[in-house]
Amino acid sequence: FDLKNDDFTNLQELGQGNGGSVMKVQHVPTGTIMAKKIVLIDAKPAERKKILLELQIMHDCDSPYIISSYGAYLAEPNICICMEFMDKGSFDGIYKRIGAIDIKVVGKVAVAVLEGLRYLYDVHRIIHRDIKPSNILCNSAGDIKLCDFGVSGELINSIANTFVGTSIYMSPERIQGATYSVKSDIWSLGITLLELSVGQFPFSDSFSDSDDSDLEREPNTPSNHRDSLQVPMSATSKRRARRRSKGVSLHGGGMTMSIIELMHQIVNEPSPRLPSGKFGQDPEDFVNACLQKDPDARSTPAQLFEMAWILYSRQNGVDMRAWADTF
Ligand code: ATP
Ligand code: MG
Repeated sequence: FDLKNDDFTNLQELGQGNGGSVMKVQHVPTGTIMAKKIVLIDAKPAERKKILLELQIMHDCDSPYIISSYGAYLAEPNICICMEFMDKGSFDGIYKRIGAIDIKVVGKVAVAVLEGLRYLYDVHRIIHRDIKPSNILCNSAGDIKLCDFGVSGELINSIANTFVGTSIYMSPERIQGATYSVKSDIWSLGITLLELSVGQFPFSDSFSDSDDSDLEREPNTPSNHRDSLQVPMSATSKRRARRRSKGVSLHGGGMTMSIIELMHQIVNEPSPRLPSGKFGQDPEDFVNACLQKDPDARSTPAQLFEMAWILYSRQNGVDMRAWADTF
């Protein structure tokens, strides 16, 4: 494909993130439907060239667990990345629409993410760096694929937004400034699986007290909720935050927990867990293996592939195509 801006018609906005926005588009000369990510960058010509070169790795990816790419081009001051369109969207949108995801489907997500991570690392020596529900996509064939992996260090440096790279799915060692390893992706996978199976982001006190959680929970504000800056916050977290900030509430009346408060929790509090007994021992063991706070104690992808829940989930009888047809 020789991609240029004039050849696209915009069909629909799919969503906005911190780095830019994603549009459903049609590439008119070929009739192909694509997802086009538009990223505003602040980069000199040499840096722009390097970004395009690095993005080429995306084009070279060939795995059923990785979004395929049609290519990238510059449209000053933006960079546009054209990728495979996934008609069922991302798993954050899916669970916000249909509620907590069936644990057997979550098992399929775990298998797909592990396979995707293995492919990226073994074949291209790249670490994903941004595993979270909004970067795990689904289509009506029931395929589960990863997008937005860290192919371009130069692109990350050039994005005109200070908060890029800060995420609520970050591992304790990452928050404390350690260099990135595939183990950090495993932490993010654990948080993601918890969120999908419970239907709620795990770092809030209401997450653990399952009985009165409905009383404690804040009303959801999905449309303008920017996950890497603010997270929904329970009554107890708010009290704690007020205590720590000596009566000064953070972020507009304390409806949300600041990223600082959340990161403090990730580093200092025990890891969140699946509610015990609800989903079975195997998923609990798997999530606990992902959410070891010490990266040396955390399982490697190779070890996780051997765990009972993964061996079972590969052939758990779920028809993903039929599942994707239910919403
Ligand atoms: P952040 O910027 O914090 O990483 P994000 O992942 O939600 O957040 P984007 O990567 O810009 O932000 O994506 C915005 C939304 O677009 C996603 O939530 C997803 O639902 C949708 N999206 C992204 N890529 C595709 C795709 N290839 N096909 C269909 N929908 C997509
Ligand atoms: Mg994304």
